[in-house]
Amino acid sequence: MLDLVIRNGQVVTPWGVGDWDIAVQGEKIVAVAAPNTLTDEVGRVIDAGGKVVVPGGIEPHAHIAAPVMGPGNLKTAPPEEVSRAALFGGTTTLMDFAIQYPGIDIPAAIQERTQVWRGQSYADYAHHLMLLGDISPQILESLHEHIEDGFASVKIFTTNIRPPEMTSEPRMVRMGHLHDLMEQIQRHDAMLLVHSEDDDMVQHMYQKLAREERSEWWNMHLVHSNESEDVSFRRVTRVAEWTGSPVYFVHVSAKEGIAAIGEARSKGMPVYGETLHNYCCFNAENYQEEYGMKYHTYPSLKSPEDQQSLWDGIVHSGLHTIATDEYCTSWEVKIRGRTVRDVTGGHNGAEARMGVTYSEGVSRRGMSLQRFVDITSANAAKIMGLYPRKGAIAPGSDADIVLIDPDLKRKVTLADLHSDCDYSIWNGWDFEGFPVMTMVRGQVLVENGAWAGPEGIGQFIPARAVSEP
Ligand SMILES: [Zn+2]
Repeated sequence: MLDLVIRNGQVVTPWGVGDWDIAVQGEKIVAVAAPNTLTDEVGRVIDAGGKVVVPGGIEPHAHIAAPVMGPGNLKTAPPEEVSRAALFGGTTTLMDFAIQYPGIDIPAAIQERTQVWRGQSYADYAHHLMLLGDISPQILESLHEHIEDGFASVKIFTTNIRPPEMTSEPRMVRMGHLHDLMEQIQRHDAMLLVHSEDDDMVQHMYQKLAREERSEWWNMHLVHSNESEDVSFRRVTRVAEWTGSPVYFVHVSAKEGIAAIGEARSKGMPVYGETLHNYCCFNAENYQEEYGMKYHTYPSLKSPEDQQSLWDGIVHSGLHTIATDEYCTSWEVKIRGRTVRDVTGGHNGAEARMGVTYSEGVSRRGMSLQRFVDITSANAAKIMGLYPRKGAIAPGSDADIVLIDPDLKRKVTLADLHSDCDYSIWNGWDFEGFPVMTMVRGQVLVENGAWAGPEGIGQFIPARAVSEP
């Protein structure tokens, strides 16, 4: 007797794509078998005829219930809102950040996240650690304990991102501290996430544009520039080569970033690149629109040529994951900043991510189904230490399974989306292929556009043993 069997689908497994049946028992996948070879004694049979069956999406980069930069004590949308929307879009695991602010230690940062998430999430979740500013020897020495506890990835910034008067706490980790952190990351088989921009260049451009009275938001790409990404990525990969540390560059936005990753990888270095779905679908020309700041995510959108390079990196090779940098605020907060110094970054993208990648990647650019799964799920699981529990349709893996209807053509409007947010940059986007069923650990949670399961079953998933995608 099996709990559930999925039949007749085109299934994407680590060993290839084929017409197989999937057996689920409890929370796990127990078999991937030739059609009609599994027992008929089944609790439920799901007919996946005409559907593509993939592992649940993994969102490696989200800011959930996180403090909003700028005035007021605002926070981005909470786990229950983001995770529910994510499941409607086929994403079953979300990763956000436990932030070690100056004055608190890592256990306090983890405790804060646990309180925010436990019992509040519809999807499964894990946390990266985030270190800000100077890293004390005590923090460095304690790091391995947290890595062993399931926090296998650490994020840092090489820039303060915003100008000094807009920055509540210094974020930038300087090169000496970065070196010491990389030694620890290497020694304990963890992963380092880097928001990599050259702070000198970024701060210089804030001042220069102010002097020239060119600080309107649509000049954001002149502050967070291609050159800054180029210089900073190369500095970081140099230190990575000295220390042997792996590096995962978050939100790669420029062709120069992809080139720097490619050069490092050609030397055999474990260096990876993430881009964002809004970076692939929009560019700095969109900043010129009325309220064009709505497209902004830090560092910045770049040129149409960069946008093309990002698609090449996603569809073919050069990049490893597509993320959202989810940062869901109200429209009022999103558009309140009007200059390069004070715009609000990020948007609500978790629900659109899988559908955008399928529509634009598979349906319109010929991306293979295997590559789609790598980019939306398997690579993130491997790089962040969740594989093969997550990111695979294989015996022993969690039964996080998504059915995509490849023929579903729909123009999505704000009313179709499931976040409470009062705007979306995906409003009016034409999708060609979209998830129609989402399952988490064997439970069908979304079916035919409606919620179909229990609420709040999301679990913390410890991250361990990062591996090469
Ligand atoms: Zn981010």
